[in-house]
Amino acid sequence: MQLALSTWPEVEEYLTRSTGIIIPIGSTEQHGPTGLIGTDAITAEGIAIGVGKATNALVTPTINVGMALHHTAFPGTISLRPATLMLVIRDYLVSLSRSGFTKFFFINGHGGNMATAKAAFSETYAHLQDLQMEQEIQCYLANWFMGGAVYQLAKELYGDKEGSHATPSEVAVTQYLYPDAIKTAFLEPLIPSTHGIYSPSDFRRRYPDGRMGSDPSLATPEHGQRFYDAAVQELSKSYHKFLQS
Ligand SMILES: [Zn+2]
Repeated sequence: MQLALSTWPEVEEYLTRSTGIIIPIGSTEQHGPTGLIGTDAITAEGIAIGVGKATNALVTPTINVGMALHHTAFPGTISLRPATLMLVIRDYLVSLSRSGFTKFFFINGHGGNMATAKAAFSETYAHLQDLQMEQEIQCYLANWFMGGAVYQLAKELYGDKEGSHATPSEVAVTQYLYPDAIKTAFLEPLIPSTHGIYSPSDFRRRYPDGRMGSDPSLATPEHGQRFYDAAVQELSKSYHKFLQS
């Protein structure tokens, strides 16, 4: 059930049986020569919609621009600064808690969002108390790409060629969801992702084609479906558990 495709009376009715909601959060950033700029938003949104269907939960519009400052030396990347992203997350939470939602399950597609999202949760808990809103809320950050089953499958299919950015697993999920947008290109030998993440220009010097230790040419739409199903199954369980906690 998608919030954007619902009416307010439907949302009001939903709230009589659940105060949980799923928020997909991704990023709009370079993903190497063959990965879509929207990879992290596409995967988070697709998986969130799948979890929403499996659990009968409402799914909000995706926060599809995240914290991707280190990718901004590549054309097409859009990034919010951490402070901006924190305010975006806080405003989602304040608006939805006014409606009566109390349990916020974020499905995240981008490692670079993790620190900022957690900081935003802390800010929001305190902010809601300052506003003297009666409602206590709880937030949970689920990184689909770090789930046990997904991690295991990536290891089995790609070994150390999974890498840490523009990975074959995330590219495979986009290939499954958008088969008409599959890209191919010549790929240089991979560069191990052993260097830290600093400035945008340092990142581009270190990882000239944008990949970090990954070989996305191994991705297939069939693999993508397996990752998708594993992530939906795992996160549906986590969502139920979170609701009960
Ligand atoms: Zn990504």
